[in-house]
Parts: sequence; structure tokens; C-alpha cells
Amino acid sequence: MTLHAPRVATDQEIRDVVVAQPRRGLPELIERALLASGALLRGHFSLQVGTHSEYFIRFRALARDPEVLGAIAEHLLATITVPTDAIVLVPESSGYFLGEAIRARAGITLAVARTDSERRPARSLLHGGLPAGRPVIVVNDVVTTGASLEPLLDLVADCGATVAAALVFGALDGTGFRAMLGRRRIAGDHLIEASPSWPVADPARCAACAAGGPPLLPAAELN
Ligand SMILES: [Zn+2]
Repeated sequence: MTLHAPRVATDQEIRDVVVAQPRRGLPELIERALLASGALLRGHFSLQVGTHSEYFIRFRALARDPEVLGAIAEHLLATITVPTDAIVLVPESSGYFLGEAIRARAGITLAVARTDSERRPARSLLHGGLPAGRPVIVVNDVVTTGASLEPLLDLVADCGATVAAALVFGALDGTGFRAMLGRRRIAGDHLIEASPSWPVADPARCAACAAGGPPLLPAAELN
């Protein structure tokens, strides 16, 4: 049990598995913030997409530092034009903290979507509104391909509003995330993704499972 209990990743592991976009100050910010917050865990985690991962980012731990959260929000806002009547849409999960930071910096309003029993964003609103015709910036903390954003994108369409951009702190599968944005024809950005050294596997091919089934933690419950 203790052999594979999750632990905080070392600075070397952070450099090995996390790739930050090459923007001024960003890689240094990410490395420093992940190390100081202990937000990157090493263990054996089941991701919502059904795969098993040796690493997991607890965004809530990162978000506890207001300076770090503000810097992340600014890096994401730097890549898009924010309409003055835009609304930020976030799920009621740890992504909320990033959405609120983006809302505060951009001086716009916030709407919150419900999450389901597995903490995935659902296609209904908990708080705020998405009036028809308004531009919406969909925000979440860490996604894999961005498939978990699709209920939020559909919710915007249900309300007759328009997605102006999708912003996430991390897209573990950066290629998959860009492909999702392309299919949806929406602008979007992410600041970090997983390097090829970040082990993610189908359960049938998971090395940690094959090694004797160490504790498997549903990643969403750690955030
Ligand atoms: Zn496994």
C-alpha cells in the first residue's frame, strides 16, 4: 500500500513530464509554482477519460497562491481578445478558481455549470446566465483532450450564446485538445501539456496495474 502511495513530484520529475508553452516567464513560473505548491503528484491515478496515469495535477493546490493564479489567468488572457460583454463559463469544480481569476482580470461576468456525480461538467447552469447572442469564454483547469469541455460548449449553444474561446490551464494531450478546438472551430489556449515521459495508459496496458495493482485513486477526488 505505502509503496505506491501518492507523493509530491520532485523538481526533476516536474521538468521531465510537464511541458509549458514557450512564452516569456511561463516555464519558470510553472516549474516554481508546481514545486512550491506540491500540486503535481506521482502515484497511480484513474483519469475521468478512463485511462490510468502516473501523475496528477491538483489545480486547487496551485490556485491557493493568488499571485500564481493571477499570472496563469494573465497568460491565458494574453492570447485572446475579450469582448466587453463576454461571460466566463466554468464548472463547479477546481476550474472555478481559474474562471473567477480570469473574470476578475477581464472585468466581465461569471456563470457556473453544474458537475455530475463524477465531477464532470454537466450541460446545465448552477449560477448566472448565458443570454442569447452573448460571447462566452469557457474555462477549466486541467483536461485531457478537452472532451470534458464539450458539455459546456453544448450548454452555450443550447442557450443561443456563442463560444468566443476555450481556455484551460493544462491539456494533457495537447494535440487532442487542438484537434477538438479545430473540430469545433473555436479559438482556445492551454499553458501546459504532458511530455512523452508522462505515463498514461489504458487500464489493460497499465504498468502500475501489471506490477500488482497498487492503490488506484480517482483523480477527480483529489482536487
Ligand atoms: Zn493502472
